[in-house]
Parts: sequence; structure tokens; C-alpha cells
Amino acid sequence: MKTVGIIGGMSWESTSTYYRRLNQLVNQRLGGLHSAEILLASVDFAPIETIQSNGDWNAAAKALTDKAKQLESAGAEAIVIATNTMHKVAPQIEQAVSLPLLHIVDAVADHLEQNDIQDVGLLGTRFTMQQPFYKQRLEQRGITVRIPAESEATIVDQIIFTELCHSQFTDHAREQYLRIIDALAQQGAEGVILGCTEIGLLVQQQHSALPLFDTTELHCRAIVDWMLDSKAGI
Ligand code: GLU
Repeated sequence: MKTVGIIGGMSWESTSTYYRRLNQLVNQRLGGLHSAEILLASVDFAPIETIQSNGDWNAAAKALTDKAKQLESAGAEAIVIATNTMHKVAPQIEQAVSLPLLHIVDAVADHLEQNDIQDVGLLGTRFTMQQPFYKQRLEQRGITVRIPAESEATIVDQIIFTELCHSQFTDHAREQYLRIIDALAQQGAEGVILGCTEIGLLVQQQHSALPLFDTTELHCRAIVDWMLDSKAGI
């Protein structure tokens, strides 16, 4: 089994999901007492969030490349960024270390391709929904990406930072998300990417008739395929 190095803590709530799911998936595949070989570098999210809202992406790149280097020195064989938003600085991290970076968008795009989905809605932070770094990587794979209108994007973004990252999961927030998911379906989306690693803690497939693509889950499955050097079921 290969050792994955995770840059986490953005937020810690979703990093704990990564930790649990990676261990569960490795155990499902290998059985017995097998569990995942993981190195974790977990940040203090408060200064990172300030950096994000100030748009100081050079500082963000510096903070995360420092963590990636620590993981490389500690023996990690690949780097994972356990948040969608911070994939904005994935290119700088790839330059700073000589390890592969297991990109969250590639995990999602592979799954969409396998399921013949070409038109999706995207929910996430304002950065993920509105800046090109995320959408473009999907569009390069031939996928049409729809994002919520401005007023709805504000609601999606605010709920992430004021509720989900504080471990608050309310029916009211879920109803708002489901309404916005419905609006994306009306526009023609065949499914919706839960493009923030905390959204899957609020909204799950059982809440919606439309296919939902939980990036945390798809990322974890792709990471375990890499760790075990084989696809599930093969
Ligand atoms: N975990 C979130 C994401 O997947 C948001 C936190 C952040 O801004 O990094 O984008």
C-alpha cells in the first residue's frame, strides 16, 4: 500500500470524513485489520480563511506548499488537498514537491465520464463556483458546468463558512441547498457536484432525486485506487 499525504483542516470537519472514509474503503478492499497509510498535515483554518477572503493567493500557495514539503519529507508518496477551494493553488504545490498530486477535479471528471454525464451544476465556495480554476478543468474534459445565480451563490457560500465549517447542519440550510439544486436541474443539469468537502455532511443522495456527486467521497475512492494500485472491484 502506498502512503498518502493529506493537507487538511479546511475544515477539520471534512478532513475527519476523509480520514474515516479512506480507512473504511481500504478495509473494504483488503479486509481483516487493514487500514489506510496516511500522513496528515492539518492547518489552522482561521488564517487560511482570511487569506482566501483577502484574495492573497500567493500567501495561500506558500502556506500549503510548506505543508506539502513537510509531508514529502515525512515519506508521503502523493499529495492530497482535502478541500476543493484550495485546488486553486494546486499548480504551485505540484511545482514545489516531486510527488504526484491527486487532483479532486480529476476524480470527479473520471466519475462523470464513466457515468456518461456531460452537463452538471456546481455548488461550492464562491471561489470554486466563480473562478476559472475549477470549472475550466471540467470543461476541458467536455463537461458543461452550470453555477447558481449571484444571489443563490451568496447563500451557498455563506452557509459553508457560517454553518458547515462550524459543524452546524440545519434543515433550513438543507432546504435552501435543495431549492438551488432544483433550479440547476431546471436549467438542464443532469446532476450536481457537491464541490465543497463539507456539503456532503448536509445534503446526501437520499434528499434529492437528481444525481449528486459528492467530491469528498469521489476523491477518497480515487485516492484508495491509487494507494492500492487498482480500481475497486478489479
Ligand atoms: N472545504 C471547502 C471546500 O471544499 C471550503 C473550505 C475552504 O475554503 O477551503 O472548498
